[in-house]
Amino acid sequence: MADGQEGNNTAIIIGGGPAGLTAAIALAGAGLPTLLVGKRPTKPDNRTTALLAGSVTALATLGVWDLCEAHAAPLRVMRIVDDTGRLWRAPEVKFSAEEIGLDAFGSNIENRHLIAALDQRARALPALRMIDDEALAVESNSDAVTVTLRAGGVMRAALVIGADGRHSLCRKAAGIGTDERQYKQVALTVCVGHSRPHHGISTEFHTASGPFTLVPLPGLRSSLVWVLDPAEAERIAALDDRELSFEIERRSHSILGKIAVEAGRGMFPLSAATARRFAENRIALVGEAAHVIPPIGAQGLNLGLRDAAAIGEFAVTAHREHGDIGAASVLAAYDKLRRSDVAGRALVVDAVNRSLLSDFLPVQAARGLGLYLIDRIGPLRRAVMQEGVAPAGQPRLMRGEAL
Ligand SMILES: Cc1cc2nc3c(=O)[nH]c(=O)nc-3n(C[C@H](O)[C@H](O)[C@H](O)COP(=O)(O)OP(=O)(O)OC[C@H]3O[C@@H](n4cnc5c(N)ncnc54)[C@H](O)[C@@H]3O)c2cc1C
Repeated sequence: MADGQEGNNTAIIIGGGPAGLTAAIALAGAGLPTLLVGKRPTKPDNRTTALLAGSVTALATLGVWDLCEAHAAPLRVMRIVDDTGRLWRAPEVKFSAEEIGLDAFGSNIENRHLIAALDQRARALPALRMIDDEALAVESNSDAVTVTLRAGGVMRAALVIGADGRHSLCRKAAGIGTDERQYKQVALTVCVGHSRPHHGISTEFHTASGPFTLVPLPGLRSSLVWVLDPAEAERIAALDDRELSFEIERRSHSILGKIAVEAGRGMFPLSAATARRFAENRIALVGEAAHVIPPIGAQGLNLGLRDAAAIGEFAVTAHREHGDIGAASVLAAYDKLRRSDVAGRALVVDAVNRSLLSDFLPVQAARGLGLYLIDRIGPLRRAVMQEGVAPAGQPRLMRGEAL
């Protein structure tokens, strides 16, 4: 690796997860010279991602969705079932994409397929160089950022995009703190086969320990995200395949018939974190480097992809106008746009989760009333669905406009 030879208007992205790869494709696809430094993940990611319609549109616009489509299942209906067994139970609520004129709210895909598709597309872009290495140090000053690699060598760029996950080195280098919260909950993930078809319906059972959500995959398969208290999660995770399959069938009230769990279980302690600023000192944060959100309501990576699309849009515009892609004005515009979107959604996810865990009767009643009103009032229902799928002020890629 030659030292410091990168140009003044080059961007370096650190982290080759889905948010980093998407940012790299957005920038390089529009001709902006880009380097992506990514260290290989140490263990396989067996999770799936429910991508909302805006994310699917952005991936299609970037030439990635064609490579994903065969592995993805459309999400046509979302069902919320109160399974808390409490005195104040919310009514069952069913949202259908048809009601807002869509074929589907989005699509669910296994992360391994999503990442393989992003990786394939990224490697085809002439303006993008992929470096399979770890960034050891990131330092910024008023006119550039330098990145030191583990394999040796120092690179210099006008803008660094920190897509390096929840323990982000870039965030620390930018001097940005976080507001954090730990939950006494663990998400257990596993993919399952089942004997009855899902008909494109995702079902979220709200239980007193958190949601138990089955999301369609192609064919007679679904993914499960099961939020439990830590001791119960340990017990469930220790079950053998036959016992776990039976337990999942029981908890899902057999809506998908007979269940057979597949290999590859995951356990994720729930936490939340939001960076106090999303960009500073020529470093912009995307994905979990900027925000960690509990896996409730499929928000995390959808927000991460909106970050990637937004920084892509701002940086490419500056590049085309022969401006400085890491200028304070570019970073301030990015911070303003993305922080408000993320803060609003993080608040809602936290409130829904806490209302499930709360034994306080008025809180349970308020949750029930909220869902009742959404269920009964047509315009409110449609507004909630529209806001979930295609919120106002989305970046251009989410609207199908190329950069
Ligand atoms: C159980 C569960 C279910 C979920 N389901 C959904 C869902 O349905 N829909 C949804 O939208 N979101 C979902 N999410 C959230 C989603 O998984 C995350 O938002 C997403 O994985 C974050 O991607 P990322 O690229 O920001 O970070 P990561 O995937 O963590 O990628 C960061 C990358 O950076 C690399 N890296 C770190 N440090 C360095 C360094 N110094 N140098 C080089 N590389 C580095 C890492 O190796 C890694 O590859 C879920 C989360 C959980 C826990």
